[in-house]
Amino acid sequence: MICIDIEKKIKTYQGQQALKVSGDFAAGSIVKINGPSGAGKTTFLKIVAGFIQPERGNIIVNDRVWLDTALKISLSPKKRMAGFVFQDYALFPNMTVKEHLEYATADNEWINHLLKIGKLETLTTHKPQYLSGGQQQRLAILRALATKPQLLLMDEPFSALDPENKTALINELKLVFNKLGTTVFMVSHNPQELEELAAGLGKSSTLFINN
Ligand code: ADP
Repeated sequence: MICIDIEKKIKTYQGQQALKVSGDFAAGSIVKINGPSGAGKTTFLKIVAGFIQPERGNIIVNDRVWLDTALKISLSPKKRMAGFVFQDYALFPNMTVKEHLEYATADNEWINHLLKIGKLETLTTHKPQYLSGGQQQRLAILRALATKPQLLLMDEPFSALDPENKTALINELKLVFNKLGTTVFMVSHNPQELEELAAGLGKSSTLFINN
């Protein structure tokens, strides 16, 4: 179970507003995050990962306290170990495909499995600038999974993939999520990919973020 209740002041086009999000989410479920542009969806994911501090709140992930502002507890992003797929990928320009994964894990068998499901096995020595947009995005997803995270946070993770590659990857990801018991929070403007990801994975829910 993942329990979240946070509040953070954000600057929006309408001036300063409070981003308030709360909810309990079943472990292993897919949580679709919806809301208008600028409402705070990306900010919310970054708060959960520990990159942005909220003014107030609690985040408890599978019985472990990640954040409790009343008790002045806030685990570092490294300790939270959430997988994060950034909207702009945030790849390392000087690292090859394989080095991105080796940076996150020493488990070579797992690295090879990830390279296979992301269809990057033949590109292991390439740096990001020599990859297509879709290949870069797939690498960002694989890197986020390298640590076998309990919680995976994805911000528009399939936006650069063509429908065929997207469906193939989503089917592989579902097997990984099932095996690891990963809970997934995903922001997407494409309802179809949210449905595809949630279909057959047991529980899914929708979290609306609206100021
Ligand atoms: P969405 O992903 O829903 O489009 P964002 O989370 O990207 O929305 O942005 C929501 C608003 O939060 C933006 O107007 C942005 O300026 C503001 N914001 C982003 N990061 C911070 C921060 N660290 N502190 C305060 N406001 C922020």
